[in-house]
Amino acid sequence: MREEESFSELLSKQRAFFDSHQTKNVSFRKRQLKKLKAALLDSEEIFLEAIYSDFGKSPFETIATELGVLIKEIEENLRGVKKWSRRKKVKTNLINFPARSYLQPEPLGNCFIIGAWNYPIQLSLSPLIAAMAAGNTAIVKPSEMAPATSKALADVINGNFEEEYIHVVEGGVEETTELLKLKFDKIFFTGSLRVGKIIYKAAAENLTPVTLELGGKSPAVVTRDCNLKTAVRRLVWAKFLNAGQICIAPDYVLVDRTVEKEFLEAVVRQIEKFDYATENDNLTRIINENHWDRIMSLIERDKLVCGGSGDREKLTIEPTVMAGVKPDDAVMKEEIFGPIMPVISFEKIDDAIHLIRSFPKPLALYLFSGKKEVREKVLREVSFGGGAINETILHVTNPNLPFGGVGNSGTGSYHGEFGFRAFSHYKGIMQKPSWPDLILKYPPYSSKKEKWMRWALGWKKSK
Ligand code: NAD
Repeated sequence: MREEESFSELLSKQRAFFDSHQTKNVSFRKRQLKKLKAALLDSEEIFLEAIYSDFGKSPFETIATELGVLIKEIEENLRGVKKWSRRKKVKTNLINFPARSYLQPEPLGNCFIIGAWNYPIQLSLSPLIAAMAAGNTAIVKPSEMAPATSKALADVINGNFEEEYIHVVEGGVEETTELLKLKFDKIFFTGSLRVGKIIYKAAAENLTPVTLELGGKSPAVVTRDCNLKTAVRRLVWAKFLNAGQICIAPDYVLVDRTVEKEFLEAVVRQIEKFDYATENDNLTRIINENHWDRIMSLIERDKLVCGGSGDREKLTIEPTVMAGVKPDDAVMKEEIFGPIMPVISFEKIDDAIHLIRSFPKPLALYLFSGKKEVREKVLREVSFGGGAINETILHVTNPNLPFGGVGNSGTGSYHGEFGFRAFSHYKGIMQKPSWPDLILKYPPYSSKKEKWMRWALGWKKSK
């Protein structure tokens, strides 16, 4: 718990800083984003070590999926922020002639960002970049489940920025609960559905707007008319990257019965090729013993195609594939968030769609199909946050696509300009000259004025 002063004092300082209007200046925002970029580049070693200590992850993956992603996000914001913060002219309707109308973006104010552990740098700092670009102050609370990275974030951010502008608070449930009692202007949460509900309720007390980036069971659908070799390579990569601990990992695979055998054989061959040995850096560790136990308990030996073992001390689990899985099996009851690929076969695409729709709306969906009518049907009939066709997880890397869920997988989105919008309010302004001033709208009312008003509103009886 922060000792030197209370969280409310910290927020008061941030409020006073926001009220000084310095963050409204686009040059200020750009300077701060550049400062953040430099701080990240200069702290590469600190972050590589912290992630290695929490996950045993290779520098290759940490640069590619954490630091590199953030540098690209900062650059995207530096390129866009001037344009995004400009007022945007919109049309004015005839009844208001002569007037000009525009949208005036403004920062929401003092923000609270709560991160998840699976990409602990990215999930804390990517929303922060959007908050900074939009001209806000922020308190960032990384996940306590990746303690070395949480400390590295606090050291780097708090060592480079004044706490009245942005500040990292370390801690877990206790600290977050205290902070949630305060009145923020925006809460941005990444994490589980269970905690998402706690955040939403706390935010409702203060009518604070939220973005909830949650998870769920994201399906992959493999039809008989796709390029099976590429589909398998892309699916195996996305499923076992970060040992399956990715919110948009393909959770389960639905495969056309006619190609199931071929698919499973290709998956096993691909896993061997990717060489996920415990001794090398290709296999990321499971975050802790609780998650290791939970994931291992989902494995059913009689359904194993490959894998199935793990080392509790080293916190590793072999890439595991299970076939003949039924919708009511334990592995289908919760988000797996681990290196298990359950495979379920289907006869008709309608059966696959029916099964996906029997679960809450997922964060992502991946469809492998060479047929336009199949692609159109799935896109039309299934609701999900976002996704990819003939690809997996990489939609997240395109800043021109909003990233977020729908229903149980979340509310709101971010990345690129969508992130800027998540931390902005758009004032709708109409500006008029003082002359002419249509007196017909003012009392005292008369039948002539009423006639005019009916005409202006297009008020006509249907018969
Ligand atoms: P979590 O919900 O357990 O924790 C997230 C954050 O909430 C942490 O910072 C934690 O300290 C805090 N927290 C935990 N319990 C709390 C409580 N009772 N009150 C207040 N705060 C509390 O989630 P997690 O285990 O860190 O992450 C895994 C989940 O996050 C998965 O469901 C995954 O799909 C989802 N996720 C979503 C995204 C996305 O972008 N949509 C990204 C990563 C992870």
